[in-house]
Amino acid sequence: MNDTAAATAPSATVIDGKAFAAGLRQRVGAEVAKVKAEHDLTPGLAVVLVGADPASEVYTRNKAKQTVEAGMNSFKFDMPVETSQHDLLAKVAELNADPAVHGILVQLPLPDQIDEHAVVNAINPDKDVDGFHVVNTGRLATGQDAMVPCAPRGILMLLHDTIGELKGLRALVLGRSNIVGKPMAALLLAEHCTVTMAHSRTRDLAQECRRADILVAAVGQPEMVRGDWIKPGATVIDVGVNRIDAGEGKTRLIGDVAFAEAAQVAGAITPVPGGVGPMTIAVLLSNTLIAACRQHGVAVPEV
Ligand code: NAP
Repeated sequence: MNDTAAATAPSATVIDGKAFAAGLRQRVGAEVAKVKAEHDLTPGLAVVLVGADPASEVYTRNKAKQTVEAGMNSFKFDMPVETSQHDLLAKVAELNADPAVHGILVQLPLPDQIDEHAVVNAINPDKDVDGFHVVNTGRLATGQDAMVPCAPRGILMLLHDTIGELKGLRALVLGRSNIVGKPMAALLLAEHCTVTMAHSRTRDLAQECRRADILVAAVGQPEMVRGDWIKPGATVIDVGVNRIDAGEGKTRLIGDVAFAEAAQVAGAITPVPGGVGPMTIAVLLSNTLIAACRQHGVAVPEV
C-alpha cells in the first residue's frame, strides 16, 4: 500500500447491512416453513399504495417480491391518487377483518386529502407491522410487547451484531421523527444506553455527537455529520438516504454522514447504500411472521 492509500483507507469496520439482511430473510423463510408445516399457518402481508410515486412503487414492489420469496402470502393494493380518506379507511377495515392478512402496511407518504394519523391509527395494532400505531408507540415506550418500526429494529440488530452488549453506552440519536428517531431512542433506552436526542434546535450539535459511543444519524441532510464530530472508535449508523446530482444527468445516493471522513475515526460504520436500507424490508418480513404467530397463539420465533 502506498502512503496515500494508507492515509485514506477507512480504519473503521464497514457494517454490511446487505449481508445481514440476506441472513435475516433466510432465517425468516426457514421459520415461515416451520409454522406452515407445524401449524398450517401462512403469514400474509397486505401492502396498500395510494398514488403512483415512483420511489414508493419501487419500495412496495420490492416488499411484495421479498414477501413471496420468504414463503408468505403477499396482497398488494394499488389505489388511485385521488382516493378519499373514507375509501382508504374502508380498505383498512376490510384488511383488519381478513384472517389471511396478518400484517398491514399503508405506504407513506399519503396524498394531501388523507390524514396519515387517522389511517395509521385505524389499522388493528396487532396487524400494524410498521409499528406506527399509537398503541404500539405506547407499548414500546412502556416496555410492553409491541410491533417495533422496521428501520430502528433493524439498526438495533446491527448494533448487537457489531458491539454485543449496549448497556451503559452513551448513544446520540440525531433526528426525532416518529418513524426513526423516537422509536430508536426508546429501543436504546430499553437496552440501558444513556440516550440523548438531538434535532434542528440542538445547541452545539458537533459537541453532542463527539460524546457518543453510538451515533445514529437520521436527518435527511447530505453528509451533515463530519469526521471531526465523531468520537474515536464510536459506532456510527447512517440512516439518511439522500439522492444527489452526480453529473451527466445521473444521480447517486449518499447518507447523512460524510462516510470517507467518518470512517477514519469511527470504530464501525454503516455505508449508504448497503447499510440500514436493506434491513428495513427484512425486518418487515420478520414483523409479519411475529404478528401472524401472536395472532394465532403460536410461539414467536427469535427472528
Ligand atoms: P424526518 O421526518 O425528515 O425528520 C428529520 C429530523 O432531522 C427532524 O427531527 C429534524 O429536526 C432533524 N434535522 C433536520 N435538519 C437538521 C439539522 N440541520 N440539524 C439537526 N437536526 C436536523 O426524518 P426521517 O423520516 O426519520 O428521515 C431521516 C432520513 O432517514 C431521510 O434521509 C430518510 O430518507 C431516511 N430514512 C431511511 C430509512 C431506511 O430504511 N434506510 C427509513 C426511514 C427514513 P426537527 O424535528 O427539529 O425539525
